[in-house]
Amino acid sequence: ALMITDECINCDVCEPECPNDAISMGESFYQIDPHRCTECVGHFDEPQCVQICPVACIPVNPAHVETRPMLMAKYERLTGDA
Ligand code: SF4
Ligand code: SF4
Repeated sequence: ALMITDECINCDVCEPECPNDAISMGESFYQIDPHRCTECVGHFDEPQCVQICPVACIPVNPAHVETRPMLMAKYERLTGDA
């Protein structure tokens, strides 16, 4: 999963781009639910939020480093596709 750092300027552009509805407003800046973020695996070739973020504040979440098969399994769980 990816995460949003405190460099986020709350520009709002990433939230609607997330195919997994993983992005929401947190206490003071946007946040990513690590249980919903597949790093866009299953939907797109590149993380859509990273592509669009104007300040490059979306790194990999060090507490949720996942392999591609793990991310695909999460995608399948979220979408119900087997
Ligand atoms: Fe959503 Fe994809 Fe960004 Fe994860 S990487 S928060 S799934 S847009
Ligand atoms: Fe924050 Fe970047 Fe999302 Fe804008 S695109 S709300 S700066 S994480």
